[in-house]
Amino acid sequence: MNFLPPILLHYYITYRCNCRCSFCDIWRSDNSEDARLKDVIQNLQDARKLRVRFVDFTGGEPLLHKDLPQMLTFAKKLGYQTSVTTNCKFYPKRAKEFKGKVDFLHFSLDSLIAEQHNKLRGASVFNAVMESIDVARSLGEKPDLLFTITNDNAEQLPLLTEFAKRCGLMLIVNPVFSHTSVHELDIDLLDQIERFRYKPYVYVNTAFHRLRRNGGNKIENPRCRVVSSTIVISPDNELLLPCFHFAQKKKPIDRSLSEMRAEPILREFLAMQGRFEFCAGCTLNCYFDPSFLYRIDTYFFASLFAKTKYVLDKKIRRSVDAVFGKSDRRPAAVIAQSLLMQFSSRNE
Ligand code: SF4
Ligand code: SF4
Repeated sequence: MNFLPPILLHYYITYRCNCRCSFCDIWRSDNSEDARLKDVIQNLQDARKLRVRFVDFTGGEPLLHKDLPQMLTFAKKLGYQTSVTTNCKFYPKRAKEFKGKVDFLHFSLDSLIAEQHNKLRGASVFNAVMESIDVARSLGEKPDLLFTITNDNAEQLPLLTEFAKRCGLMLIVNPVFSHTSVHELDIDLLDQIERFRYKPYVYVNTAFHRLRRNGGNKIENPRCRVVSSTIVISPDNELLLPCFHFAQKKKPIDRSLSEMRAEPILREFLAMQGRFEFCAGCTLNCYFDPSFLYRIDTYFFASLFAKTKYVLDKKIRRSVDAVFGKSDRRPAAVIAQSLLMQFSSRNE
């Protein structure tokens, strides 16, 4: 479905980060330049003219950008659905600035064991995540918990599933991906993850699993539609082609995005998306997620199913549980502690 306009603006507003996650190398970037508000505003307007519906403000750690609240306000005014993923270090301090501006707010949480989470994140952030959940709930926000599942923390899945349910928050199970292929997830673990896909408050997109089981993207018959589906912009105001992780071209944005997307080079990248040598076996979740929408096949339906369950759980199940007083209103750290004790006594 190449006739569809791009759906997502993947906006890197900073490469700076206050975590040192073992499965990420963005924090190693020596580029500390942040996106300028005036460029972001211009690009948001241009992308909207191209009928882009979603904007993901990403990084690095997006909450390190002082102007993020203004960017979100402007994006909402233009009718975007907004998303932000944070490691939570600064969320409690800045939460009020974001209230009501983020449609999909994600808190990274990789373990209920503080030491394990902090080790994976390379920073002491577990307590900030717990506090962020409490602060967000008190403000009426509905953050999702983003669980990046690796070979080292897969055993946390049952515990985090229960934690999410008690808090009435969605648990997004995100199989770790790495463009260096160093941090791949064992294929055997996919079956284990899929046993949780019908559990309340759990989002498992089996399209990602199918792609991995099939050996990732095939360059002779690519499933990647990154250039069709996504506009990727760097903090230095460059259009990254075809994608962030393997940018072959960094085009300074010196005219409107519509004009730039009409240039011959864009057509070249459209023709080459998923066909470069480095595309063989690619499973970069953030680009396949929108790509799955751009061809009707088994990936499309698997992804659609997962997203429908997400919406039903988040909107309907959550409201019903709230009416019947099912969600646990105690502080997140207390819930986490009681679950840890419960699970450890069960395993003794
Ligand atoms: S918090 Fe995000 S950007 Fe920062 S090091 Fe971890 S994965 Fe990378
Ligand atoms: S297959 Fe992967 S590496 Fe290749 S263009 Fe798509 S997202 Fe980028």
